[in-house]
Amino acid sequence: MRAQPKASHFIDGRYVESKAGQSFKSIYPATGETIATLNSADEETINAAVESAVAGQKIWAATSPVERGRVLRKAADLLRERNRELSEIETLDTGKPLQETLVADAASGAECLEYYGGLAATLTGEHIDLGGSFALTKREPLGVCVGIGAWNYPIQIACWKAAPALVCGNAMVFKPSEVTPLNALKLAEVLIEAGLPAGVFNVVQGFGDVGAQLVSHPDVAKVSLTGSVPTGAKVAALAGEHLKKTTLELGGKSPLIIFEDADIENAVSAAINANFYSTGQICSNGTRVFVHTAIKDAFLARLSERTGNAVLGDPMNETTSVGPLVSKPQLDKVLSYMSLGQEEGARLVCGGGAASVPNFPDGLFVQPTVFADVEDTMRIACEEIFGPVMCVLDFDDEADVVSRANATSFGLAAGVFTKDIQRAYRVTDQLQAGTCWINTYNLTPVEMPFGGYKKSGIGRENGHAGIEYYSQVKSIYVEMDGVESAF
Ligand code: NDP
Repeated sequence: MRAQPKASHFIDGRYVESKAGQSFKSIYPATGETIATLNSADEETINAAVESAVAGQKIWAATSPVERGRVLRKAADLLRERNRELSEIETLDTGKPLQETLVADAASGAECLEYYGGLAATLTGEHIDLGGSFALTKREPLGVCVGIGAWNYPIQIACWKAAPALVCGNAMVFKPSEVTPLNALKLAEVLIEAGLPAGVFNVVQGFGDVGAQLVSHPDVAKVSLTGSVPTGAKVAALAGEHLKKTTLELGGKSPLIIFEDADIENAVSAAINANFYSTGQICSNGTRVFVHTAIKDAFLARLSERTGNAVLGDPMNETTSVGPLVSKPQLDKVLSYMSLGQEEGARLVCGGGAASVPNFPDGLFVQPTVFADVEDTMRIACEEIFGPVMCVLDFDDEADVVSRANATSFGLAAGVFTKDIQRAYRVTDQLQAGTCWINTYNLTPVEMPFGGYKKSGIGRENGHAGIEYYSQVKSIYVEMDGVESAF
């Protein structure tokens, strides 16, 4: 299986190669096959991408918002038309099963483009009455924005950054994770076909050093990163040195609290979605599942039974529900946490190691794993694993569980299951998390702002809030009278 792009980078409306950069491979995690070989961007390529973005941005900023919206909506239509092709590429690049990629990746990217395309013509300023004189505000673009993506949702992340940036009249240079480099290039093709001027959306490939060079480039105004907390700290420090605006979407160790009156089947469904979807490689996952002791046994029995129904297998087969992990380093990391949980004394309810899948001897598969009797201080309960490892913790008291849920430096998301609406509000009010779900988990519609409290991030993506982070407000005072002065 090959998914070799025409060239590694997409700059100024066309594919470009940079032979001087380090070569790297995209590997299909189900088989270990190389599906594409690309080159990392060298300095000349990075400069060319930023230069083309500077030129493209001037044209794009002068394009009427209605027209900008039309281009984004057309790109959404094209993504939908090509959903199967894009989903297959995403499955090859990430290993996520087609059952997921057909509905969650290019499809959610299309929704984001459509949403911001729809907002385009509504982004107006204010008229402020100053008693005779008045002031106006207008929302202006920042200029060239850099997007840096993680490997778990490659095309969705590219769209979540490109759509709000472009609708505000910015240009973007996007660097995908070198683990999953392919679909950002397809997005660039689609945007050009939809009528985006050349240079407004560019893709350069590479490792962290390419990301860092983009962040420090003098013609870049802003950086938006999706990645881990340590990378976020490095990017924030570098951006700070150059006083660049920053949006950071980082990791989490989110709590999912299940009270004794919860609908157990729904709570189990949510815990499964919150830990095993995308083989657990989701930043907002509810990996600390606090279950009230009154329903603990019933919950664990159903969870274990239903986890046994997971179908590990060929990711291209639409009946497969759990694919491999994305890469060998990720596999090693997840397996080490599975062993650590047992060493730390947590009770293994199911899973606990690598999984062998017939016909996929080299696949990076692991068993969906549940640990019960997990203590708050265990490393499996404190550190982001980014794999299908669920920690179930006991609780009896509402105030106690809220304080334990908040006892982390992360703050990306949280969930509460209860039929008592007042308790649900009371608890979510106290949870230190950017997104809280009541009686569901991990739904991130584009209309709803998404982002982290504490070390899980800075800024918000999606919703109207996303506009704030890709534009700046200019105030214009209009004097309607004379000008007084002291002398
Ligand atoms: P990393 O933090 O390792 O990498 C993220 C991106 O940053 C990659 O493109 C990476 O390049 C690049 N990068 C690395 N070092 C630098 C640097 N010094 N300067 C600029 N760019 C750099 O994350 P992963 O790709 O491993 O993704 C997993 C992480 O992402 C998890 O922690 C997860 O929680 C988080 N995440 C957060 C989401 C959110 O919305 N909050 C959503 C999805 C994931 P390279 O790949 O070459 O290292």
